[in-house]
Amino acid sequence: MSIQACDVKTSSEAQQVRKYVKMYSRMGGKAYVHSFGCQLNVSDGEKMKGILASLGFTFTESYENADLILLNTCAVRESAEDTVYGTLGNIKKYKKQNPGVILILAGCMASEPKTLDKVRSHYPFVDILFGTSALSQLPKLLLEHYEGKKLAYDMTEYSEEFGADDQIRESTFKASVPIMFGCNNFCTYCIVPYVRGRERSRSAEVIIREVEDLVAKGYKEIMLLGQNVNSYGNDLEGGMSFAQLLRRLNEIPGEFWIRFMSSHPKDATPELLDAILECDKVGKHLHLPVQCGSDTVLKRMNRHYTAEKYLEIVDYLRARSEGFSLSSDIMVGFPDETEAEFEDTLKLVERVKYDNIYTFIYSKRSGTAAAEMEDATPDAQKRVRMERLLTLQRQVATENYRRFIGQTVRVLVEGESKQGEGWLFGKSSAYTIVEFQGDQSLIGTFADVKITDARNWAVSGVLVK
Ligand code: SF4
Repeated sequence: MSIQACDVKTSSEAQQVRKYVKMYSRMGGKAYVHSFGCQLNVSDGEKMKGILASLGFTFTESYENADLILLNTCAVRESAEDTVYGTLGNIKKYKKQNPGVILILAGCMASEPKTLDKVRSHYPFVDILFGTSALSQLPKLLLEHYEGKKLAYDMTEYSEEFGADDQIRESTFKASVPIMFGCNNFCTYCIVPYVRGRERSRSAEVIIREVEDLVAKGYKEIMLLGQNVNSYGNDLEGGMSFAQLLRRLNEIPGEFWIRFMSSHPKDATPELLDAILECDKVGKHLHLPVQCGSDTVLKRMNRHYTAEKYLEIVDYLRARSEGFSLSSDIMVGFPDETEAEFEDTLKLVERVKYDNIYTFIYSKRSGTAAAEMEDATPDAQKRVRMERLLTLQRQVATENYRRFIGQTVRVLVEGESKQGEGWLFGKSSAYTIVEFQGDQSLIGTFADVKITDARNWAVSGVLVK
């Protein structure tokens, strides 16, 4: 049975917690919520804020005047976990001086059984711990804490449903909508399937209703989220595929854009690519993480595609839409990556001509298969390879962005640009950063900009209207 957010807020636990919040809060019921990591985590953090607000909390930007501190953690790399433990170390002093402050650890890291052991042994000042599929248990856990439990925790996987009104969103014009949770792919470097479980798609009906609500409220960009959105619906009997879902969302009236992440190349079917190309509200950009250009490394990564298969997707898009915008994640220095394997990645980058790449030097993540692999490549060599990749990408992108010069592009204006006073920035349908001079009142609206200049990460131009 799924747990609805409204049930969470009206439960008897929630009613009792509201009384305790009034009774025990020294700072007037202020909560500090910090989300680390990816957009899915940020979206979860917004839901946690929604629950806390329903319990009587308001929010502060500093943990040093909070009654409740919630760290919504990320587990993707060991360095991400170290950051959380470092933050806990900083908070320890504040907590010692203010023992009534409630300290909560949530998110991916909190879903790992080893975290519970580590908190018990090294961070006994943590009060509450819960995993990514137990958000709905927050009132119950708070009640247990107020009633004297030393460490209240819940790592169970609940089936939870949150709607458009259940989140406290950071933006008034960009909204994220998770469409599925978990991952079935088991890439050998990734911990996600172990901490977020197997793929679970939300019902299309619920997603459509949520997007309709958001559009009616004036949101201009809807970001559909999942670890692998391309396999949306595979677990729903008779349900929609991701391509069908995009087409259905595209029919919702109003001016808004639909974006999505992340995509796995093995599930990027022609049906999906056609939907992206043909739906006018779907951004003309695909973030398609290739990770590397070597078939032998892709095999060791357990990615289930070859460089050739990946290039077929690129060619399919570019044959139908010249200059179609692509971006990617690329990992350098996967265990035992040879010079020849790395050069295959350079060749692929040169061939695809990405507008943007997000690069990482592989770092060991305990609990994954890759962490057990031999790795003879020295770190210094990995850093040199990274520099070579970045140099190539800068050349590729400088050339790439020039294709927009002379075009007038529609832009969703996002905020002030660092260019200087009077400058704004936004993103085009192709997810290109566009800078131009204009009035702040344009933020959160669509504008047309004629592109006059290009750099290796953005373009700039003149406001047309
Ligand atoms: S597709 Fe691979 S990298 Fe992405 S979340 Fe799943 S296991 Fe991790």
